[in-house]
Amino acid sequence: MNRKIENGFLANYVLMFIISSMIGLFTFMILGFANDVISKTLVNNNYTAKSLMMDNYQDIDAKTVTDNGGGVQVINANYEVAYSAGLNTFSKDMLSTAEFTDFLMKSKSKGIAYNYSIEYNSNERFWLVVTFPTAIRIDLALVHNKDFPSVDTQGVVGVIVAVILFYIILLALSTIIYSKLTSISIVNPLRKLSNSARRLRDGDYSARVDLNLENEFGELQDIFNAMAQQIEQEISLRKQSEENRKQLVLDISHDLKNPLASIMGYAELFTNKPDLSREERSAYTKVIYDNSVRANNLITDLFELSKMESSDYAINKTRVDICEYLRVEIGTFILTFENVGFAYNFEVPENEIFLEVDLRQMDRVFQNLVANTVKYNSKGTSVLISLFEQDDDIVIIFKDNGIGIPTNIANDMFRPFVRVDGARNSQTGGTGLGLAIVEKIIVAHGGNINLITDEHCGCEFSITLPKI
Ligand code: ADP
Repeated sequence: MNRKIENGFLANYVLMFIISSMIGLFTFMILGFANDVISKTLVNNNYTAKSLMMDNYQDIDAKTVTDNGGGVQVINANYEVAYSAGLNTFSKDMLSTAEFTDFLMKSKSKGIAYNYSIEYNSNERFWLVVTFPTAIRIDLALVHNKDFPSVDTQGVVGVIVAVILFYIILLALSTIIYSKLTSISIVNPLRKLSNSARRLRDGDYSARVDLNLENEFGELQDIFNAMAQQIEQEISLRKQSEENRKQLVLDISHDLKNPLASIMGYAELFTNKPDLSREERSAYTKVIYDNSVRANNLITDLFELSKMESSDYAINKTRVDICEYLRVEIGTFILTFENVGFAYNFEVPENEIFLEVDLRQMDRVFQNLVANTVKYNSKGTSVLISLFEQDDDIVIIFKDNGIGIPTNIANDMFRPFVRVDGARNSQTGGTGLGLAIVEKIIVAHGGNINLITDEHCGCEFSITLPKI
């Protein structure tokens, strides 16, 4: 397995370990220097017992010491506190020899909260004790004395080397463990991501990643999942369109087969039966003609539809007052409706509403809708065509109260070759492409078309188109 990240982490931590050790050494040196600087600035080092000493202790200038928070005591040869000013750490006025010796010992130790400076005046035989509360204490120093017994050197050096080795081993171990721990947080999500990417590459489009992280990996996971979902959708769309294409070819062959079979059959009759009567001839010729028209219509519609589906299909839009346009169109439908005995009603506003419209294509939309209404509904059907504004759009309602379409297949009606079963006969002469073409034209205008219908409840097409 590739361990580049893991090794990279280890190398970085080892480097960090070396750098921090060097910084540690440097700090050690700096502290020694700081110790000197601090001790020079501390007030207790400026007022030592030695510097204040006077033979007559009454003359000792204790004021500067007490002003700086310290104290001055004089202990005479009988270990009595003969004089005291300011801070006093002696609990009694008279000490025993043992107590004073103890004090002298303790005053040198490091861990106490007071700084003592003690000086003995051998002329007058008294001790001068100057006390300051400890402000800060840094006692850090490496000391080496040449006179140290050489037999002990080996042991001491051995101990120091062992301590240093122990320190290095401990630090190296924790560096390795820590680098592993931190690399896990990177390597694990990466591994999960690459596993899912591999599954995706191998065709498993359901592959997703679940890292349960809020960081950048979480972001990467979301992007990956969104990408995988898009690929999955596109693949299923592609499969679907492949299915549709196959179905289309089947439908075309089926719908072309019937008229062509009739044409071939009747043409054969003509050839095999030269003694046909005039009436028979003209009836057969009509069948051949009608079927040729049907086949031709089918091919023309198919051509139109595939043109609309091609990527370079563009409509030729012009600025049109849709109310005026619809009124003129309606004028051409009236005769058709009257011929088949339909009632009609139109509601188009008087004002001007402008739209960008490809007139030739929009004519086709209304011709198809009118042709269908007339084709599939019987005498006495009522038709309503109305137009109204809705926000930035206009809506055109094209409604009849005829036989309608079962609701469950209403939405499929806009797909090529989808027809209500009973209508799949040669009488209606439809190609099953009319509504598919209508929808393509409306969508190319930036609009949409919906069908509300049910069996025996008529059809209501509502077309929405954007205003300028
Ligand atoms: P066709 O060439 O068959 O008319 P369309 O795509 O135009 O193809 O219509 C699809 C089917 O929808 C038709 O076959 C018909 O069954 C049904 N249809 C369309 N319009 C109406 C309508 N106004 N009333 C009843 N059925 C309709």
